[in-house]
Amino acid sequence: MRPDILFPLFADVKTLPGVGSRLAPLLAKLAGERVVDLCWHLPSGFVDRTPRASLDSAEDGSIITLEVLVERHIPPPTKRLPYRVSCSDMAGETINLTFFRANVRYLKEVLPEGENRFISGRLEYYRDAPQMSHPDHILTPDDFGDMAATEPVYPLTTDLTPKPLRRIMRSALERAPKLSEWLTPERMQQHDWPDWQTSLLTAHAPDSNEALDPLSPARMRLAYDELLANQLALILVRKRMRRLPGRAMEGDRHLRDKVLAGLPYKLTAAQQQAIKEIEADMAAPVRMLRLLQGDVGSGKTIVALMAMLTAVEGGSQAALMAPTELLARQHLSTLSPLCEACGVRIELLTSNDKGAARRALLDDLECGDIALLVGTHALFQKDVTFHKLDLIVVDEQHRFGVHQRMELSAKGGGSADVLIMTATPIPRTLTLTTYGHMDISRLMEKPPGRQSIVTRAVPFERLPDITEKLATALKNNARAYWVCPVVEESDEADITAATERHEMLTQLFGEEQVGLVHGRMKAGEKDAVMADFKEGRIRLLVATTVVEVGVDVPEATIMVIENAEMYGLAQCHQLRGRVGRGDTPSSCLLLYAPPLSDTARRRLAILRETEDGFRIAEEDLLLRGAGEALGVRQSGLPAFRLALLSHHGTLLQEAYEDATAAIEDNPALEGSQGEALRTLLYLFERDDAIRYLRSG
Ligand code: ADP
Ligand code: MG
Repeated sequence: MRPDILFPLFADVKTLPGVGSRLAPLLAKLAGERVVDLCWHLPSGFVDRTPRASLDSAEDGSIITLEVLVERHIPPPTKRLPYRVSCSDMAGETINLTFFRANVRYLKEVLPEGENRFISGRLEYYRDAPQMSHPDHILTPDDFGDMAATEPVYPLTTDLTPKPLRRIMRSALERAPKLSEWLTPERMQQHDWPDWQTSLLTAHAPDSNEALDPLSPARMRLAYDELLANQLALILVRKRMRRLPGRAMEGDRHLRDKVLAGLPYKLTAAQQQAIKEIEADMAAPVRMLRLLQGDVGSGKTIVALMAMLTAVEGGSQAALMAPTELLARQHLSTLSPLCEACGVRIELLTSNDKGAARRALLDDLECGDIALLVGTHALFQKDVTFHKLDLIVVDEQHRFGVHQRMELSAKGGGSADVLIMTATPIPRTLTLTTYGHMDISRLMEKPPGRQSIVTRAVPFERLPDITEKLATALKNNARAYWVCPVVEESDEADITAATERHEMLTQLFGEEQVGLVHGRMKAGEKDAVMADFKEGRIRLLVATTVVEVGVDVPEATIMVIENAEMYGLAQCHQLRGRVGRGDTPSSCLLLYAPPLSDTARRRLAILRETEDGFRIAEEDLLLRGAGEALGVRQSGLPAFRLALLSHHGTLLQEAYEDATAAIEDNPALEGSQGEALRTLLYLFERDDAIRYLRSG
């Protein structure tokens, strides 16, 4: 249960004074629905409200704070003109305050003639005369003494203005309690970090550019807390997995040997090593939770098959789960001939399977006639019962969370080994954030004989050149992908863009040659188009980013990516990985719409420079700014609220060490130090992991 002390933070924002049904949705859009979400919404700047002695030709457009004598109220001659209040600074220079649609009674009250007031706001020159329109603050000299010299500036959303937001933030921060320290004194001294509450308040009260720096002590501490919570949670999950019984599976190799003997190629050293690691895990009586990480085309599929056959040799079943039906079908078609060669029955189960056929399939699965089952989430519907499921392979593409992975294992009667495959090349330094609870096998080396991909960036106005070259290539029997622009947050618009491009290309190249595939098509339709492309009946495949994941057509040698500037590096790299899979040279054209931002330019340059997924991942991280949520989503990294991996990544190792030491010293998180760490887990909502403390 969440500690009482955190209750005020986890209350709805509507419990804050002045927040009701109008503001709550705006705050939700901006930060979240709870007070704590506001606390994590850090300022992006600050305004200096330090008063100046006089106007003294202050800069046009600057924010100034000034003591003035209110001279005279001047009502406008017509309603369309502003109400003016003429004032003078302490040196006698005149400044006009202007108000459109003025509330005269209110103005008379706050700006009485003949009295001194402090005003603060943006200075403008109107016909060379200084004026301030709608000052941000009008205060009596007494009240001014209480005003902070600097004010935080928060990122905003439409319809939410700075002043009410600041007020709400202030009351949100008042809810932040003093919490017992969970960091070690050594760690705090090392970085000169304040306690949590002080850090939070300091981060919300920047008074210099240094204070806004992600590496300022306050911001760094908050980020560290988040990383520490992340590491603690992963270590708890890992420990829990370690304690769970698994089935020891060795097998007699008869199936594996048959398949290997029939392969037209030799396994790479990296593949052999990965297989060895997996086999060792499977042979052990504890549960496997292993990640197989390898760039696109590194040959993960055969490694997974070896694992699955190991299970089958020992009389178990194995399941392979893919993120989409398209990929599930593709896995089936890759694996089927290999399974046939060794006499193992493999079947596909999708959510489209219905009625008697489905029933028959489920019966065969339940009695163990089916050894390998491929599918999507549909694999784990309630009515699907395995005879003896001991291995679950997940072709992941970063769609599952830590706990979902745990739950997968439970589907197999509670003791199935889990192997996750991912092509997301997460920088080595950051694997901890996502996979800290797993063992990792890496395929760093690609199968031999791969041709490199020539990558070029081409501005959109050269589209005619591209289609002309494409026409020649298609005449020479080439096969090409044409990936249509991502339109943010709208499937619908993505599909429209793809449909329109498909029409245009059909007109150019003829109907027989060009196919279209997108996420809204029925699985059957998609498969038919993919099959046509695979077999060369169509030569140009127009697609939305559905082709991103794992599609394997070795004959395809041209990839056109429209609006490449809009993609994250990692995603572009994934898309490009659809070509260069055969033995003919391939090319990738990054079509962009100028002008390019600096970051976009750099991204395209990196893609031209290298095909190394890990290098690309590192660069991606460096280029990723704080606001680039898109990049985060596509990179497969967990979304942190405070930690910026580009800046705080170096703290990960420390967080990992502290988390490891804390749990080693105090495995059940007991006593006051244990309480403090639990509070940390609750604070960052990693408290799912606390379950594993108890059930262990
Ligand atoms: P990944 O899933 O890692 O992207 P795949 O398993 O789909 O890669 O393999 C990509 C291609 O490489 C497939 O066509 C596969 O048959 C081939 N392949 C796999 N291992 C080797 C190897 N050791 N030598 C040559 N080709 C290989
Ligand atoms: Mg694959």
